[in-house]
Amino acid sequence: MKQKEILRQVTVSSEETERLASDFAKRLTSGDFVAMFGDLGAGKTAFTRGLVKSLVPEAEFAGSPTYALVNEYEGNGVRLSHFDMYRITDEDDLYSIGFFDYTDSIIVTEWSENIEYALPEKRYEVHITKLGDDRREMLITETEE
Ligand code: ADP
Ligand code: MG
Repeated sequence: MKQKEILRQVTVSSEETERLASDFAKRLTSGDFVAMFGDLGAGKTAFTRGLVKSLVPEAEFAGSPTYALVNEYEGNGVRLSHFDMYRITDEDDLYSIGFFDYTDSIIVTEWSENIEYALPEKRYEVHITKLGDDRREMLITETEE
């Protein structure tokens, strides 16, 4: 299924990226999947911080799940699971971190490039491109119905 563009915007600070994410978060409900794409330092973790601030405001953001692989936030009637797929190389790795058991949650993935074969057909995608200095192009798409 094809992805269709729902938002394209240049942000000029990590705070602005967070605010954009907080706004986008209003669309999300349990079971939704947000696959983030972009280089190291693009702003994927900053974007996720904005999602968590909006969806689970009582939670303290734990930063990048580089070592933990997944950070979970729960409260306000929602659960958000933030994965870092940087070191995931195959489906066995995904099974061993229990990736497929996270059904009752909003799922957000960094380095989605590494798990394209495991992405659900229905998903949002967030593509972040560094334009230089603090400028980032944010492109958000959703699966066309
Ligand atoms: P990633 O998770 O994609 O590796 P991070 O969110 O950890 O990236 O880091 C992004 C870095 O870029 C942070 O140091 C942040 O302050 C900086 N930054 C500068 N401008 C922006 C912007 N417009 N949006 C997001 N982050 C930005
Ligand atoms: Mg990150």
